[in-house]
Amino acid sequence: MTTTSTQGAHTPGNEAPTQAAEQITLPPCPFCEGPPAVIVTRTFEPFGSVEPTEHFGCTGLDVDAYVFCHECGAEGPKHETVIFTQADYLEAERAGAVLWTERSAKHRHLYDAGSPEGLNLYPQEAGQ
Ligand SMILES: [Zn+2]
Repeated sequence: MTTTSTQGAHTPGNEAPTQAAEQITLPPCPFCEGPPAVIVTRTFEPFGSVEPTEHFGCTGLDVDAYVFCHECGAEGPKHETVIFTQADYLEAERAGAVLWTERSAKHRHLYDAGSPEGLNLYPQEAGQ
């Protein structure tokens, strides 16, 4: 489940009114319980983090927004989008934060289905 994208829906000069954004409690890293950090990076070269500015040019900027663990570097799912304005930037950041926060047990049934067959054991056969 992902949030809706604003790709193609950009309307220059029609910025959303500034309003207090709802705060999201980011859960700790699932691997080391470390503190999460939200980041927006360039999708293409030159890679690297992107800082919020008023405008990102007429053609926009391809970015990935996601949360990573400050301690072990684990990364959450990436929200890929094209940003044109600071509002787009903030929206992308929030989408990345939501993806990290909405981690769920949606694939647990696959894990459980493999348990009777020993698929979750290592090595898969005893005595090897
Ligand atoms: Zn971690």
